[in-house]
Amino acid sequence: MSVKNFIPVRKRLFVGLLGASVLGSGALLAGIWFLAVNPTRTLFDQILLIILAILLVGGIALAALGIGGIILTILYSKDITVFHGPMRIAVNLFFPIVLVIGKIFHINSGKIKSSFIEVNNDLVRSKSLRLKPAQILLLAPHCLQNSDCPYKITVNIDNCHRCGKCPVNDLLELRDASGIKMGMATGGTLARKYVQEYRPRAIVAIACERDLTSGIQDTNPIPVLGITNERPFGPCFNTSVKIPDVEKAVNFFIGEGDYETAVCNH
Ligand code: SF4
Repeated sequence: MSVKNFIPVRKRLFVGLLGASVLGSGALLAGIWFLAVNPTRTLFDQILLIILAILLVGGIALAALGIGGIILTILYSKDITVFHGPMRIAVNLFFPIVLVIGKIFHINSGKIKSSFIEVNNDLVRSKSLRLKPAQILLLAPHCLQNSDCPYKITVNIDNCHRCGKCPVNDLLELRDASGIKMGMATGGTLARKYVQEYRPRAIVAIACERDLTSGIQDTNPIPVLGITNERPFGPCFNTSVKIPDVEKAVNFFIGEGDYETAVCNH
């Protein structure tokens, strides 16, 4: 395998910045260590700084293990249970640092988030899950609804009259054909409410990069397959989604061909 193909391009950004954040923390550790051994410090200060340094070393070691786990999982498409904890720490603890480093290097945060979603999806796909349809929640954003539609579907998604002018029609067909749960959220609060109400074992989420990133982190450790919506008219307005991608994600959780697809021929 050539170095170029070591990690696929779209995932390389997030994993690379994650590594940079660990290196940055290492530099911070070196600073703390330098202060700890400074002879002008009192004994108490030195002990305190050494404890801090030990905590930091532990955190960095765990994060480094997590990055190793992410790379191995992506490379071998296999879930490695022993890395679960460190991977969670690496992703959740270091993600804000990753964004700051990206900002310093003028990397678009949308690009980093998109890379994070790709990495997350790979980690989820490495698991061998076989769930009942009712254990899966499909979360869709309100902006998929056609702006001219007069029906209030956020209160009850079945208020949709299925005219076919927007993807909500296709998503409802998918829900009915597969037997999964579905919720349409106007934001994070409503999305969390659906998660609490349905208590899913897995989630297929459609949203923009920003909402997907925070949603994936919020619902951790529930596995989430994130699908970015298309925004031909700009953000949050008459957005769209590739229905086959949604169907593929649902199929991943319940097993290919376990229900008769109603939308696959679109
Ligand atoms: S498919 Fe449903 S939500 Fe979309 S425009 Fe038609 S009635 Fe409204």
